[in-house]
Amino acid sequence: MDKNILIIEDEAAIQKILSEPLTFAGYKVTTASDGLEGINIFCGQEFDLILLDIMLPKIDGYTVCEMIRQKSQVPIILLTALDTEDDQIKGFDKLADDYITKPFSIKLVLKRVEALLRRTSSDTVSDCIRYKEICLSETERKVTVSGNEAALTHLEFEILLLLLKNRGRVFTRDDLLNLVWGYDFAGDEKGVNFHIMNLRKKLKVDYIETVRGVGYRIAKEN
Ligand code: CA
Repeated sequence: MDKNILIIEDEAAIQKILSEPLTFAGYKVTTASDGLEGINIFCGQEFDLILLDIMLPKIDGYTVCEMIRQKSQVPIILLTALDTEDDQIKGFDKLADDYITKPFSIKLVLKRVEALLRRTSSDTVSDCIRYKEICLSETERKVTVSGNEAALTHLEFEILLLLLKNRGRVFTRDDLLNLVWGYDFAGDEKGVNFHIMNLRKKLKVDYIETVRGVGYRIAKEN
C-alpha cells in the first residue's frame, strides 16, 4: 500500500529534490508551497508523514506543526536551515518527530522517512515485493529467487528495489547514480554497468533489460 507524504516547502528546487526520489521510492507525494496551503491540503486528505519546512510564507513551519498536532499524531519531520540547538529544541517542543538540517543528502531523508514510517506504522504485514520468481523484502533487506536467497550487496539491492518499484520505467545510468548513490556522489557510469552485470549473474533472471543507448528497466508484467 502506498504511503502518502505531504511536503510543505516553499523553495521549488528543494520541493523537486525531495519529491522525485520519494516518488521513485514508491511513495505518493503531494506538495504545498506555503504554510496556509499546507494546512488546507492536510485538512482535506489523509497523510502518513509530513516533511515540513520551518521558514515558510504565510504561516511558518512551527505554527503549522502546532496546528496539525491539535488534530493529528501524523509523523512530522521538520526541515530546518537553522542548525543551532535552540531551534532544534524549539522544533521538538512543537511535537515534531524528527528534524533534518539543510543542506541534506537525499539518501538521509529517505532513510529517516523510512525509519519513521516503520516506527509509527501499525501494520507489520510482510512488505514483500513480488515479481515473477523474485521476492524482495525491504524490511528484512532480503531477496529470494524461487525461494533461494540471493546474496546481494547494498548497491545491488538498492538498484533492484528501484527497478522493481518503478516497473516499466527506464532509468538512465545517470538516474541510477543519483537515486542509488546519492546526488552528491561523483561516481562514473561504468560502475553502474558493473553492478547491473553482477545483479543479473546473481539473480539468474533475464528481466533486467538494457534499453540501448538509454539505460535499464524491468518491464511491467503482462
Ligand atoms: Ca523555506
